[in-house]
Amino acid sequence: MGEFCRIARDCHTIMREADNTTKTLLDWYRCHGRTLPWRAAPGQCAAAYRVWLSEIMLQQTTVQVVVPYFNNFLARWPALPDLAVAPLDDVLHAWRGLGYYARARNLHRCAQELMRAHDGVFPEDERVLQSLPGIGPYTAAAIVAIAFQRSAVVVDGNVERVMARLFAVETPLPRAKAEIKGHAETLTPEADAGDYAQAVMDLGATICTPRKPQCQACPVSKRCRAFALGAPERFPVRVPKPKKPLRKARIFWITRTGEAGRPEVLTRRRPMRGLLGAMTEFPSTPWRVVDQSGGPGSCRHASTAEKSNRWRLSGQVVRHSFTHFNLELEIALAPVTGVRRERLDKLGAWVPVDQLDQYPLPSLMQKVARVCLDNAP
Ligand code: SF4
Repeated sequence: MGEFCRIARDCHTIMREADNTTKTLLDWYRCHGRTLPWRAAPGQCAAAYRVWLSEIMLQQTTVQVVVPYFNNFLARWPALPDLAVAPLDDVLHAWRGLGYYARARNLHRCAQELMRAHDGVFPEDERVLQSLPGIGPYTAAAIVAIAFQRSAVVVDGNVERVMARLFAVETPLPRAKAEIKGHAETLTPEADAGDYAQAVMDLGATICTPRKPQCQACPVSKRCRAFALGAPERFPVRVPKPKKPLRKARIFWITRTGEAGRPEVLTRRRPMRGLLGAMTEFPSTPWRVVDQSGGPGSCRHASTAEKSNRWRLSGQVVRHSFTHFNLELEIALAPVTGVRRERLDKLGAWVPVDQLDQYPLPSLMQKVARVCLDNAP
C-alpha cells in the first residue's frame, strides 16, 4: 500500500509540474507570441488554408524568407478553390527561390484533392489529413491544433530542441524522436492546443535558440533540466553527420539569335517527379558523384581536357548545396547557327533570354543564368 501511495504521489507531482509548464507557456505566448500573417490572435482558430500554406512553406525554410512568399500566394490565390484551378507552372513560378519544389507540386495536388474529395474543406482528423499529398504527421498535427484548437502533439525542429532541453534527453537524434514526442505529449493540453504548440515553436525560435539560448529570459527555466545541468547547448544530442557526396556535371548555355534579333537560350523541363521536378533547366551532362578522397585529380571536372568547336568553357563553376549532396556545374557556352539549330529544337524549348524570369527556374538555374549573362560577349 505504501509503495502504491508513493507511486501515485510521484505521478501526481509529475502531472502537476507538466500542467504548470504548459500554463506558463500559454501565459507567455499571450504576451510574447510572434505576430505572423498566417496566425490568429491567441485563443482563436486560424484559417486552415493559411495554416496549411504556411506550414508547407516553413518546412526547411525560415519565417523571414517565408513571409513575402506567403503574402504573395495569398494575394494571388486568396482561397483554396483559387489555388486548385491555378496552372501548375504559375504555382512553381511563384515558388521560385523557396527550394524543395516537391512541396509546391504537392501543394497544388493537395488543393485539387481537397476540392475533389472533401468539398474544399480541410478534414479535422489527423489520419485523413495525412492521406493528402504533401501532408505528413507534423503538418497534420499542426493543422488540427492551430486551425481547430484540438489536442494534437506538434513536434517541429524548434519543439524538438525545447523538449530535448527541458527533459535533458541523452539519446541522440534521430533515435530520440519517439522519446521527445512522448515528452511533448505530456505537456500538450486538451484545450488551447494550437496556442500551446505555437508557444513552444516561438520559444524555440526566439529564446531557446540552437546557439546561445537566452535562459535568463526563459519562462520555463525553473523546470528545465538542461539549464539545471548548466549545459543547454549540449541538447539535443546528435550523431555527427557524414560528409555530403559531391556531384559534378557540365551545363550548356546554348544560345541562338531568334526573331527580330533577340537572343534565345535552350531550356528543357525536368521530369515531373524527383529533384526539382517539373522545373525549367538548361541542358547538362548527368550529375555524377565524384571521388573526394583527395587523390591526384580526384576532384577535377571529369572532362576539363575535352575540346570542342561547338562550345567553350567559361572557366566558371556554379556551386549549389542540396540536402543530400553538393553540386558543381561547369559552364559551357555554346552559340549555335545553321543546321545544328533544327537538331537542337528537339532537345527542348528556346526561350528569349529577357523572358527567363517568366519561367519556373529554380535558384540553381537562376545562378547559372546570371553567370552566363555576365559572360555573354
Ligand atoms: Fe531552453 Fe534555456 Fe529555457 Fe531550457 S531554460 S528551455 S535551455 S531557453
